[in-house]
Amino acid sequence: MIPALEALARLRDGNRRFVAVRSATTPLASQARRSELVSGQEPFAIILGCSDSRVPAELVFDQGFGDLFVIRVAGNIVAPSQIGSVEFAAARFHTRLVVVLGHSQCGAITATLEELLGKATTESKNLRSIVDRVRPAVEDLLAGPHGEEPEALLREAVLANVRASVQLLRHGSELLERLIETDGLLVVGAKYSLATGVVNFFDGVPDGR
Ligand SMILES: [Zn+2]
Repeated sequence: MIPALEALARLRDGNRRFVAVRSATTPLASQARRSELVSGQEPFAIILGCSDSRVPAELVFDQGFGDLFVIRVAGNIVAPSQIGSVEFAAARFHTRLVVVLGHSQCGAITATLEELLGKATTESKNLRSIVDRVRPAVEDLLAGPHGEEPEALLREAVLANVRASVQLLRHGSELLERLIETDGLLVVGAKYSLATGVVNFFDGVPDGR
């Protein structure tokens, strides 16, 4: 089992390699590595990220097959199936780090803000189920200092939505709560910048790490 802070250091190192275009992994696993993984997996981090095509978790953290347990859903929202997926990996594979990975220019957050501002409405009830999960995290921002500045508002909303997902994972499951309290599970929030490629861990990282 890889402790949470060691897992965090691996992700940070991987993202530095990605930004520097100095990958340590090959995009395709060797036959030997694939064969090794047939009998089991031990992913060292769980990533709950957005489905956006520009934020592939394995690539931005420069990781290979078997390294990351990745859950992707538009807006990196937390619904019961996402909590269940995190529980599964944490309990079954003893993975001790969970990262909620939001990103700049997120379309799901933009859609939610447009709806809150009355600029658009979401017709599909399926898409609405995503917007409805983003809304509570961001609606208070409209009355805040950035309410009139679209770019700043979107930036703040992305961060607020990550924080909300982190909170839901920390407190939305008895199993995860217990693992956090007694077994070293760490849930952190991060944001990926489309422009720079840098992942900034901004929520839940212990001081000095
Ligand atoms: Zn997105």
